[in-house]
Amino acid sequence: MLLDLKGLFSASLPKIALDCLIDLDENPIKSPVRVSGEFVSRPASVFLSCALDYVLAANCDRCAEYFENPGRLLIEQTIVTEPANEDADFIVCENQELDLTELVRSEIILNLPPKLLCREDCKGVCPGCGANLNREECACARSETDPRLEKLRLLLKKE
Ligand SMILES: [Zn+2]
Ligand SMILES: [Zn+2]
Repeated sequence: MLLDLKGLFSASLPKIALDCLIDLDENPIKSPVRVSGEFVSRPASVFLSCALDYVLAANCDRCAEYFENPGRLLIEQTIVTEPANEDADFIVCENQELDLTELVRSEIILNLPPKLLCREDCKGVCPGCGANLNREECACARSETDPRLEKLRLLLKKE
């Protein structure tokens, strides 16, 4: 989705409100992504602040169950028409047009966690019997003992 920002760069428009749905053909993001916020005209630049509301749909990296979790990302970016100094984190739009789809895609992908988990405290799968420990407590988990205590118990037995 290409957005024409010329009016904002020339300051003939003070701001443009943004509220749209964007289809991203990108795993593990479900389409569409809701984008809401605004572009504001600034001297020699345009300031974008918006929220991205999306749904992460994937198989959990720990328990392998399929999950869909909502996510929200807040973006604040300055858009310029010429590259500034190298350490400034600006978006450069030389022709004063912004590809919003590409921006949304890269922001979400860059901010994905390294592991996709169904929930933060996902207990995963038992290495012994393969049970999903989020749903059940298997027999292996119950008989599991601290190996140090086990050694102590054996020592005590000998005496
Ligand atoms: Zn999980
Ligand atoms: Zn088990």
